[in-house]
Amino acid sequence: MAENKPKVATACMCGCSGCHMSFLDVDEFVKDLAELVEFQSSHVIMDVKEIEKVDIGIMEGTITNDENVEVAKKMRENCDILVAWGDCACFGGIMTMRNFEKVDKILEECYLEKSDEESVVPDDELIPTLTDKAKGLDEIIDVDVYIPGCPPSADVIRYGLEKLLEGEIPKLDKDKLRY
Ligand code: SF4
Repeated sequence: MAENKPKVATACMCGCSGCHMSFLDVDEFVKDLAELVEFQSSHVIMDVKEIEKVDIGIMEGTITNDENVEVAKKMRENCDILVAWGDCACFGGIMTMRNFEKVDKILEECYLEKSDEESVVPDDELIPTLTDKAKGLDEIIDVDVYIPGCPPSADVIRYGLEKLLEGEIPKLDKDKLRY
């Protein structure tokens, strides 16, 4: 019965969704997974934005703005095991290249100095505010499982999920890592 299945939520911070695409590359295992777990939210599967209480929370991407911080904390509060998928979530990834410069300088360069036309730095209240630095998840919240890679391969994502569903914390040997 659905209520006996482990509940899973996945969320994307600032990433390219490549880790979620790799997840979809598990092919027919998605069908098995649909029998084994109940997805509470996952932007590649369903249009549910609220994060509710789940057994496994999976996060992709770097923390780069205040909305990411809020979602990451909400996921941490609502899941028993928190999994970081991919180098961005595990270590900060390619987004941390912006950490060599101050946020104001980056915005000015992108929107004013490099613009061909008269431009302004967007400041609509709906646009999340950038954090001072781009950060991996564990600079904001506790992470229980790291599945690195850019992206992690579908096999490694599957291995991680299978181990978690067996009640184990997956351990990744170096032959399972991809950079
Ligand atoms: Fe994209 Fe790589 Fe970051 Fe995953 S780890 S979100 S594939 S850049």
